[in-house]
Amino acid sequence: MRSLDEFAAGKLADLEQADLRRTLVETTREDGIWVNRDGRRLLSFSCNDYLNLTQHPAVKEAAVAAIERYGIGAGASRLVTGNHPLLSQLEARLARLKDTEAACVFGSGYLANTGIIPALIGHGGLVLIDELAHACLWAGAQLSRGAVVRFRHNDVAHLDALLTVHRGCHDHVLVVTDGVFSMDGDLAPLPALAAVAKRHDAWLLTDDAHGIGVLGAGRGSTYAAGSRAEVPLQMGTLSKAIGAYGGYLCASSAVIDLIRNRARTLIYSTALPPAMAAAAIAALDLIEREPDYAALPLAKARHFTRLTNLPEAQSPIVPIVIGEATAALRAAKLLADDGFLVVAIRPPTVPEGTSRLRLAFTAQHPDAEVERLAQLVRSKILAH
Ligand SMILES: *Cc1c(COP(=O)(O)O)cnc(C)c1O
Repeated sequence: MRSLDEFAAGKLADLEQADLRRTLVETTREDGIWVNRDGRRLLSFSCNDYLNLTQHPAVKEAAVAAIERYGIGAGASRLVTGNHPLLSQLEARLARLKDTEAACVFGSGYLANTGIIPALIGHGGLVLIDELAHACLWAGAQLSRGAVVRFRHNDVAHLDALLTVHRGCHDHVLVVTDGVFSMDGDLAPLPALAAVAKRHDAWLLTDDAHGIGVLGAGRGSTYAAGSRAEVPLQMGTLSKAIGAYGGYLCASSAVIDLIRNRARTLIYSTALPPAMAAAAIAALDLIEREPDYAALPLAKARHFTRLTNLPEAQSPIVPIVIGEATAALRAAKLLADDGFLVVAIRPPTVPEGTSRLRLAFTAQHPDAEVERLAQLVRSKILAH
């Protein structure tokens, strides 16, 4: 198909021209912080493995034991024969951690969001979404067939104004936001968002992909302010601080029962492999037992922002906004020359003109290396 290949080549040439072409770089990880790439060993500040649990002996052992006993794949959707008891155990653990009546585990965080939102909002409904919300929340909103309106980033007054105008025209309204923003590391003002949503009878869904395990003593962004924000729909992923794979929703029993009946990404997709559930349960054991360890990634990020005079870190994610994609790639290369892996993040992952270095701090990053990186960033990146 000549036209097909020409189409692909043309699109790629446009991306190349703008320094926006992506390539897959083979990378292996042998412990929580070091990676091998292109024959080099680099200290990674680009993995979301905040607690380094992907490599933890107890987590690995739990997965291996489950593989030995139950095999690799789940065999079918959860509604057919894939509903392994370990999934129910994991759900009970997540509900306990988040203090909700129930939970539902999905194949991934992306599948969770693209399943949850269309199950709750349809034609005639409205999704109000933070402009910087994660791509899979946008995908879920678009799949819902409801109206989709963005509100300005973390702007509670704007959300309130939009609800005042639009609430009466829709049967149901869902307010959607990241709890911790994945590319900026800032927190959503959840108590204020929850109050506004409640006042207008709108339902609040938060995506806690980067909060669970690392904020609020491991319980996530809903607990970051100290007490529990009133969030009826707490979604998240098992692929970051939990160190495994899979997504989840924590909510009331009624909502979870509805999700099990209506979320197409749950119904028509094969269940998470039992070994992943076993690994996630082992990770939750560690997090619940060691809240001091869960606090380390944020402490490391704050150490870094103090040394570099950047705004104080609110989460383990610290952005250094550079501007153009070309300059961000150059900055990443410069850090790689000194042994640090900090991947440049470019549009469409972030808005045009805000290409950046995105640093993710983890529990096991040695302080001396954090300090060496800070020195390098100060002298070679922030000074220019
Ligand atoms: C990574 C991420 C997801 C997707 O989770 P996966 O389990 O990796 O599919 C969803 N939301 C946010 C905010 C994320 O950062």
